[in-house]
This record gives sequence, structure tokens and C-alpha cells, in this order.
Amino acid sequence: MADHLVEAVNVTKAFGHHEVLKGIDLTVDRGEVVCLLGPSGSGKTTFLRLINQMETLTGGRIRVDGELIGFKEVKGRLHVRRDADIARQRARIGMVFQRFNLFPHKTALQNVIEAPITVRRKSRAAATAQARTLLETVGLADRADYYPAQLSGGQQQRVAIARALAMEPELMLFDEPTSALDPELVGEVLTAMRDLAAHGMTMIVVTHEMTFAREVADRVVFMDDGVVVEAGAPDEVLLHPQEERTRTFLRRVR
Ligand code: ADP
Repeated sequence: MADHLVEAVNVTKAFGHHEVLKGIDLTVDRGEVVCLLGPSGSGKTTFLRLINQMETLTGGRIRVDGELIGFKEVKGRLHVRRDADIARQRARIGMVFQRFNLFPHKTALQNVIEAPITVRRKSRAAATAQARTLLETVGLADRADYYPAQLSGGQQQRVAIARALAMEPELMLFDEPTSALDPELVGEVLTAMRDLAAHGMTMIVVTHEMTFAREVADRVVFMDDGVVVEAGAPDEVLLHPQEERTRTFLRRVR
């Protein structure tokens, strides 16, 4: 087993001439919850999308469980992975977005069982049993047969979390999962995430929820303009930031 579940080394990403990530080094251990903070445009989403191969990196390396993401090393040379191999790697990572992206014409339950049946080739009965358990875990046992339009934003986001968990990922990525929600619905989604963290899930969470970061994160990473400015225990970074850029950001979000 690799030392770190996620290991990013000198990761760069450019869109055309615009260098969005300028050399990110970051490791995440198994069971660790890491919150990524930073101003809009600092590259947080791009970093998550690189881990999940929704973008390809420009330079550097990302390994998940010791395995290079997107590339294969053969005799010291890098080869781009085949699509099936990339799909296999992506299936090990769950991602929850700002927008819930549920299939509108499927019920909560049907949304959750879709990937396990089509990708994992699970039987409908097994997938359904698992989905019911997951919906119960996120507090939605009684909403299994509702369509997304019949659910609140907070409930939809919890279905999205259950759907990601149905693939039994070893890593969960959250990209501002509560920022599209009405304030009164934020708490229920954070509670579901807290439970997940308490059960030992490895999580990277892009968020502006400072209370969540303080209470749940093992480590907080502050990014600005494509670099990691400061990283450490939540109380260190959030209460005693060493860098002026971190202090300026924290003053603005509080
Ligand atoms: P954050 O999540 O910290 O707000 P992002 O990773 O979304 O930051 O964006 C970082 C920068 O990369 C922004 O300037 C954004 O406009 C740019 N960017 C993100 N995705 C693309 C893309 N597909 N094409 C061009 N520029 C992009």
C-alpha cells in the first residue's frame, strides 16, 4: 500500500497561456480530511478536476494509491493511459459538485443505483439494497422514490453524495458542495459530510465553510493564484495564519 492515498508533486496546469496551477505539492493520507480554501480563481476546482481526470495536467505527477493518474510508467517513460484504464481510475474517486447534476427523470433511488449497475455490473437487487442503505445514511430513507424536482437543494445534494458513495470510492472530492444552497439547507449537507468523515472516508473538500473546515478538517490548505500559500492544522491556519495573503482572505470571508 502506498504511504499516501493522494500524492501531487509539482502539479502545473495551463489553459493556453494562462497558468492556473503553478506547482502544487500536496499529499493526503488515508482517512484524512483536507479542506482547500482560497479566493475564487485560485485553482482549487482545477486541482480537483485534475485528480479526477476531468482535465489533464500540464506538468508534474498525481498518484492515487501509488498509481499514476492519467499516465502509465513503462521502463521510465510515460504513456497516456487507455480510456478503459482512465475509467477504472475514475471509478475509485467520488465527486460531488456545487450543482447536484442528478438525472432529472430518475428518482433518488434510480440515481443512486445507475452507476453500480452499468459500471460495476451489480445486480439490480444488490444495487437497490445498497442504495437504500446509503439513502438512509444521508437521512433520505423516506425520499427514495422522489424525483429531483420534488426534493430541496439540500436533499438533492445528499442524493448526489449517496450516488457518489454507491461506487464505493476510496476518495471523495467535494467542490463547494454547499455554495449553491439556500443558507437553511447548508447544515444538513455538512452533517452528511461530517458523518462520512467520522466513518473514515478520505476527503478533499473545496469550501468556504470555515466552521466546517475548523471542526472536520485534519488539515487546511490555503491556495492563492495557483500556489499553496499555507497549509497546516485548521487552528494553526485559520486562527494563526502566518502569511499576509491568508490573513487578507480570512478577514474577507469572516
Ligand atoms: P477556484 O476553484 O479556486 O475558484 P478554478 O480552478 O475554478 O479556481 O479556476 C482557476 C482559473 O482557471 C480561473 O482563472 C479560471 O477562469 C481558469 N479556468 C478554469 N477552467 C478553465 C478552462 N476550462 N479554460 C480556461 N480557463 C479555465
